[in-house]
Amino acid sequence: MEKKQLKCIVVTGGVLSGLGKGIATASIGNLLCTTTKVIPIKCDGYLNVDPGTMNPIEHGEVFVLDDGGEVDMDFGHYERFLDITCKFKWNLTMGKVFQKIREKERRGDYLGKTVQFVPHVPQLIQEWFFTLADEEQADILLIEVGGTVGDIENELYIEAVRGLKKKLGAENVLYVHLTYIPIPYGVNEQKSKPTQQSVNILRQKGIIPDIIIGRCAKPIHDKIKEKIANLCDVEKEAVITGLDVTNIYQIPLLFEAEGLSNVITKKFNIPFLPQQEKWKQLVENSMSAPESITIAICGKYTSLGDSYASIMEALSHCGAHLQCKVYLKWIETSDPRDFAAELEQVHGVIVPGGFGARGIEGKIAVIKECRENNIPFLGICYGLQLAVVEYARNVCGLQGAQTTEVDKDTRHPVIDILPEQLEVTEKGGTMRLGAYPAVLQEGSMVYTLYGCQKEVSERHRHRYEVNPKYHDQLLHQGNLVFSGMSPNKRLVEFIELANHPYFVATQAHPELKSSLLKPAPLFMGLVKAALERKRNQLGQIEEIKRRKSEGNRITIAL
Ligand code: GLN
Repeated sequence: MEKKQLKCIVVTGGVLSGLGKGIATASIGNLLCTTTKVIPIKCDGYLNVDPGTMNPIEHGEVFVLDDGGEVDMDFGHYERFLDITCKFKWNLTMGKVFQKIREKERRGDYLGKTVQFVPHVPQLIQEWFFTLADEEQADILLIEVGGTVGDIENELYIEAVRGLKKKLGAENVLYVHLTYIPIPYGVNEQKSKPTQQSVNILRQKGIIPDIIIGRCAKPIHDKIKEKIANLCDVEKEAVITGLDVTNIYQIPLLFEAEGLSNVITKKFNIPFLPQQEKWKQLVENSMSAPESITIAICGKYTSLGDSYASIMEALSHCGAHLQCKVYLKWIETSDPRDFAAELEQVHGVIVPGGFGARGIEGKIAVIKECRENNIPFLGICYGLQLAVVEYARNVCGLQGAQTTEVDKDTRHPVIDILPEQLEVTEKGGTMRLGAYPAVLQEGSMVYTLYGCQKEVSERHRHRYEVNPKYHDQLLHQGNLVFSGMSPNKRLVEFIELANHPYFVATQAHPELKSSLLKPAPLFMGLVKAALERKRNQLGQIEEIKRRKSEGNRITIAL
C-alpha cells in the first residue's frame, strides 16, 4: 500500500498573548476532522516537563488525559472541538525536549558530534512530529506553537516548523498566523500595522504565512483585508476574521462562513464536509436560550476563570442541551462565614477540585448549607472528599473528622492517602492520574444519569481517598449512598444523598470529558436540578402574587 502523504498545518501567534490561539487551532481542527485524521500537537516553551507542577493561577487549569498525562489546557479545546482522545506525547515542552536530548547524548547517539541548539533541537522536534504522525496514521498534523513570535523560548520550535516545507514539500505545509487588529479608541478604524509587523518578524525567521487570522471586535473590513493581503503576500480570501464572540463554539462556524475551510482544502486538495447540523443547532440553542440559572463555584482560585476552564465549558454544554443560559457566581471560601444569603441567590453549587488547607472550612460550610437546604450540589474530587468530611462530622457525629491532607493527626481520618497510592512514584509522584473505571450501583441517581451503564470511566487527579476503614460508619445512617466504586470495591468513586433533590459528588473530574455534543452526565444532572429549583422558586413567587392579587380582588369586592 502506498504511504499517504503527511500534511502539516502550523499555527503561530503574533502581537500579543491571549488572543485565543488554542481555540483558533481547535476550530481549524473541527472543520477538518470529519473527513481527515487530524492529530493536534502543542509546543510549549517552558522548561517544566509538564504543567502538573505549575500553579493554576499562573498557568490556568492543568488538563488531564486518559493516559494520565498532565497537559496544557489547550488540549481541552482540542478534545472538545475534534472529538478525539489526546495523548501525553502530543504536548511537547522544552522540558521534555531537553530531557530527550540529554538521554540521546548520554547514550552516545550523536557519535562524537558537538550537540547544539541548532540543528539538533529542531531536528529532534521534527522527528517527534513524524513519529507521532506514523503512530497515529495522521493525515494532518495540526501544530500549535505556544507564545508569540519573537519570544526567545519558542525560537527552536519556530525553527523546527520552518524546516517542515523542505521535509514534506511546500504544497504539504500550511502556515496560519493569528494576529490582532485593534480599533483604537477615538480613531475608530481597524488598524493593520501590528499584523504587518508581526508577519515581518515571522518572515525574518523564514516563514511566510498562507493564512492570516485577525482577531478583531468587528468583521475585518474588505479594504483592510486587501491591504493585509498586499502587504503580507497572502491571498485576500486567506485573510480571515477572528471575531470576538461570547460563545467559543461559534468560532468554527464563523471561520467556515469566512471561507477558511476552502482555503485549506484547496491548498491540500482534500475533501471538505460542511459543519455538522447538530453543532450549529446547539450553538443557536445556547445563544437564544429562554431560561437562565446561576451556579455558584466555590474555591480559592475563583479570581481566575482559567483555573476552572473545563467546569465552565461543561456547564455551557449542558446549557446548550437544556436551552438555558448558565451564569456563574464565584464564591471565595477563604474567609468562612454564614453562606446562607449568598446561596439563596443561586440555583446550584459546585465545589471543585483543589489542594491544601486554605478555604476548606468555608467549602465545608457551603456543603452543609446545600445538604440541609436541598440546594443542588455537585462535588468534584476535593468536593467529594469535603462532602464526606462534612457528613462524617455533622451526620455521623465523628467530631473533628478531617482529611489527612490538612491534619495528619486528625481523630477521624475519613479521607486518607492509601498505602497503595504511596507506592506510586511515576508521573506526578503519588498522584492517581488518568482514566479509571468505576462500577455503578444499579438504581442510584448516578447510574440513571450515566444512562444505566454498569461501568463508566472518568479521569482522575488526586492522592487521597475515602478511607475504607470508615466506609461502614459512613453508610450506617442510610442517607449516604456510594453510587460508584472502583472494581475492587476499595475506592469510592461516586456518592449521592438519597433524600436530596441533587447531592452528588465524584472523586473524578467528569468536566474533562464533557463536550458540546456529549455533555458530562453529572453536570447535566446538576443543571437540570438547578432549573427545577428556579422554576419552583418562580412558581412560589407566582403563587404569592396570585394570592396577593386574589386578596386584593377580595378586598375590592368587599
Ligand atoms: N487534594 C485532593 C487530593 O489530592 C483532591 C485533589 C483534587 O481535587 N484534584 O486527593
